[in-house]
Amino acid sequence: MEEPNKFWKSVAKELHFEKWSDKGLEYNFDHQKGEVFVKFMEGAKTNMAYNCLERNIQKGLGSKIAYIWEGNEPGDQMTITYQELLEQVSKFAEVLRTKGVKKGDVVAIYLPMTIELPIAMLACARIGAIHSVVFAGFSSDALANRIHQAKAKILITADGFYRGHKAIDLKTLADKAFSICHDQGHDIDSVIMVEHLKRIRTPQGAIPPEVKINKKTDSLWNKEMEAASSKNLQTSKIEWNDSEDPLFILYTSGSTGTPKGLVHTTTGYMTYAYEAAKKIFDSKPDDVFWCTADIGWITGHTFGVYGALLNGMTSMLFEGVPNYPDASRMWQLVEKYKVSKLYTSPTAVRSLMDCPTEMVTDYSRDTLKILGVVGEPINRPAWRWLHKVVGGEKCAIVDTYWQTETGGPMLTPLPGATPTKPGSATMPFFGVDPVLVDDQGVAKKGQIDGNLCFARAWPGMARTIWGDHARFIKTYFSTFPGLYFTGDGARRDQDSYYWVGGRVDDKLNVSGHLLSTSEIECVLTHHPTVQEAAVVAAPHPSKGQVPYAFVVLKQSRTLTADLIHEIKQEVRNKIGPFAAPEVVHGACGLPKTRSGKITRRILRIIAEGDHKANLGDTSTLIDEQVIAHLWETRPDVQ
Ligand code: ATP
Ligand code: MG
Repeated sequence: MEEPNKFWKSVAKELHFEKWSDKGLEYNFDHQKGEVFVKFMEGAKTNMAYNCLERNIQKGLGSKIAYIWEGNEPGDQMTITYQELLEQVSKFAEVLRTKGVKKGDVVAIYLPMTIELPIAMLACARIGAIHSVVFAGFSSDALANRIHQAKAKILITADGFYRGHKAIDLKTLADKAFSICHDQGHDIDSVIMVEHLKRIRTPQGAIPPEVKINKKTDSLWNKEMEAASSKNLQTSKIEWNDSEDPLFILYTSGSTGTPKGLVHTTTGYMTYAYEAAKKIFDSKPDDVFWCTADIGWITGHTFGVYGALLNGMTSMLFEGVPNYPDASRMWQLVEKYKVSKLYTSPTAVRSLMDCPTEMVTDYSRDTLKILGVVGEPINRPAWRWLHKVVGGEKCAIVDTYWQTETGGPMLTPLPGATPTKPGSATMPFFGVDPVLVDDQGVAKKGQIDGNLCFARAWPGMARTIWGDHARFIKTYFSTFPGLYFTGDGARRDQDSYYWVGGRVDDKLNVSGHLLSTSEIECVLTHHPTVQEAAVVAAPHPSKGQVPYAFVVLKQSRTLTADLIHEIKQEVRNKIGPFAAPEVVHGACGLPKTRSGKITRRILRIIAEGDHKANLGDTSTLIDEQVIAHLWETRPDVQ
């Protein structure tokens, strides 16, 4: 694209600006030439919530459903229109103001997937406060760190909720976080709690959590909203924010180490989110869009909330899990709500494809048009299953590559326009300039394997790490001066398609052969007995490094010596003898972040056999017990 600036400003023109600015993207990626910064349309004034709500209502979408909410228990459901959403957001904006929240203050939000979550986010945006959503699956420690780091004065939470049969006592977890924060010298001024438990059904056998109310700090969402209604508000005052005013802070998944609190600003993020949802999901007036990612992750922010609302779409908000009451839940919901666009993750696909096909095919998926994935490289069998079984070979598959830092997809097919190749996120999105560089930072043309960087700024990129601009520069701009470095490695093929292989740290060097662990994983997951696999480098006295494979077998399979031999042989045949795993470790599960990604840094320590090593921040893991189990089952030598 010759003139990304002109293009992005023409996209912004479709949105509402209280004050327009002719400035486009201004940036410096080279820290040797001065401060690293990015700006888009500096000086313009706008408001994200206004663009999501009033702008659409003025276009006649007031009575259109904005969200369909489905609870954990089948049958728990509700809908909310754009007009109703505006009323709720306006009231909650007043509640926040009454609590003393001002423009620039940080509001922490720790809520399950209930309608109050987007309401609270939009209310913050409306008054210029910065939201910091913390995924409700996080522990007290993780919440405390995030509250403390962002110096949040107020927390929005709920009494509790259920995930499948499991009760989550969210308020008790929040209370624990406050006492941790208190010990660190930071106190929360007020807590607003949604009484969620009394309006939802309790799963069989689950015990509703007990909730303590602290009279000094806590108040109830409904009571606060009633008080705001008594003021007889039509709509609350809108804060016209500057383009570069922060909109939110959001933490990365923590796959590689301490999570980073990225800061996204108003106009650039809004413009990018709007265009991404519009083009990648080909937004149409009668769509029912289901982004299965929790709103606590960037995918949920950009697609579950902002991108969907900016485009006036009807979205689903699902509080449960894909395998409760059984593994057909997702497809039941697709049929029930006539979902047309589905956006999910490779990890969800891998977990569902092991079930009998009828669990999918018993339900109508006729309305589905686009199936999107994000989060990790998708292995070919999973891609094919999605395409064939779920999509009945008539849906476009969009494998979107991006990061919390990028705000929106960077490599992605455009449905119907880009021919796809299973496992490739295909081509750059509008105005995105990917470059592959070698370890010396030299950009290479043509087919090459290299470090994936972006040479030019784009509106949706994060501007800094909250409170730590030096870490921002060090992490993304210091390895290859003048370029934004993603930390991922990628290959460009003869058709200029990109294949993201995973983090560059996940490469290994066996007797001088440089291998990507994802290539070996790809072969392993092709094996009919293997459900999931992860390969890491383990040190070896003569070869330097050797591949160490963790494999989770499909139900009812056991890892016999013959099977280990067969698996190794498969890698020998498909890649080469040097790539064959030295060890095949049968695992009952893999350590994963709460967003479903495999944490290879922990697997590396297990492969190295270093019992004393520091595992780093494990608070972002779903199940820490998996680690103990992996230590117990670690084979000595094979
Ligand atoms: P942390 O930065 O804390 O280690 P994280 O990188 O997992 O965590 P996210 O920002 O949620 O946190 O994830 C972005 C990363 O996910 C990318 O850098 C890439 O490694 C991977 N990824 C996302 N989408 C894709 C995709 N379609 N194909 C391949 N990899 C992907
Ligand atoms: Mg990352």
